[in-house]
Amino acid sequence: MIPEINIIIPLYNEEKVFPLLISRITELLNRSQLVITVILVDDGSSDSTSFLMKQLSSVDDRFLSVILSRNFGHQIALTAALTMVNASEAVMIIDGDLQDPPELLQEMYLFYKDGYDVVYAVRESRKEGAFKVGLYKLFYRMLQKIASIDIPLDSGDFSLISRRVVDVMNKMPEESRYLRGMRSWVGFKQIGYKYSRPDRQAGNTQYTLRHLLRLAMNGIFNFSEFPIKFITFLGVSTMSISVIYFIVTLVKRFSSDYIPDGFTAIIFLIILFGGVQLISIGIIGEYLIRVFFQVKKRPLFIIKELIVDKKEIKNWDIS
Ligand code: UDP
Ligand code: MG
Repeated sequence: MIPEINIIIPLYNEEKVFPLLISRITELLNRSQLVITVILVDDGSSDSTSFLMKQLSSVDDRFLSVILSRNFGHQIALTAALTMVNASEAVMIIDGDLQDPPELLQEMYLFYKDGYDVVYAVRESRKEGAFKVGLYKLFYRMLQKIASIDIPLDSGDFSLISRRVVDVMNKMPEESRYLRGMRSWVGFKQIGYKYSRPDRQAGNTQYTLRHLLRLAMNGIFNFSEFPIKFITFLGVSTMSISVIYFIVTLVKRFSSDYIPDGFTAIIFLIILFGGVQLISIGIIGEYLIRVFFQVKKRPLFIIKELIVDKKEIKNWDIS
């Protein structure tokens, strides 16, 4: 039977939370009127996550397991799951650590039925440290200011998206993927759904500060021309200031016995503009890196194994 809904879940070393996750999801599947199948993606875990997934999929055909060949990262794991979608109506994207309560499907589905193609969850409150929450808030507000599309505040990947949005996203070939931005870019009718984000239920976060920073950079450099335009602005402003300063010095030189001083100021300016130039090259490099990886046209992910309809398919060919 063709499912109406797919729930997709990326998992990376989540053996601790896995039993809890599956019991919450199974309860939802049993209770719901909808025909739902779940697509689990193992993102190269080194613990028993993939073993648990395979065990589950071999007895319950409502769970499909996709095992990637190595750790590709959260966004790519989700991308892999999206290509496996077979639901006729919509897809719910959630994290595996139960920070995105699966039970909200029922209410989000009502919005879908009302004609919304994207129902994205908006975090009204977060149960994480004040520092992290502050950083998140600052980042989303800055991104909204500079991005060329309207990316909603405080929303992550947690969402319910229609099948046609999934089809569009699957056609987007970008290598550097910031899914929540791509989801906004697609358009159609979109609506925010407020919820309060609980803490992860077991295990530890896999997102180190470095990963979060990379995700944030992808948000900025994939969806904004601001940094590169800012360089030009900076160049023009500093040039104008120096021209004015030059004229002022010249006038002073000829109208009085003025002896130019400011050796320290010169050293300071040389270092300052050396820094500005290096940062500028770095910013251009960020765009260049993305072009570099894009032109290689490598597959975004490699599927090692697939367990579907209780059967195991080895050496799955992605093409
Ligand atoms: N995840 C993944 N690959 C990774 C890192 C994380 O698939 O390289 C999964 C992880 O198992 C979880 C989701 O992405 O289901 C969100 O990760 P996490 O909870 O660690 O991030 P946080 O909530 O701290 O941002
Ligand atoms: Mg989490």
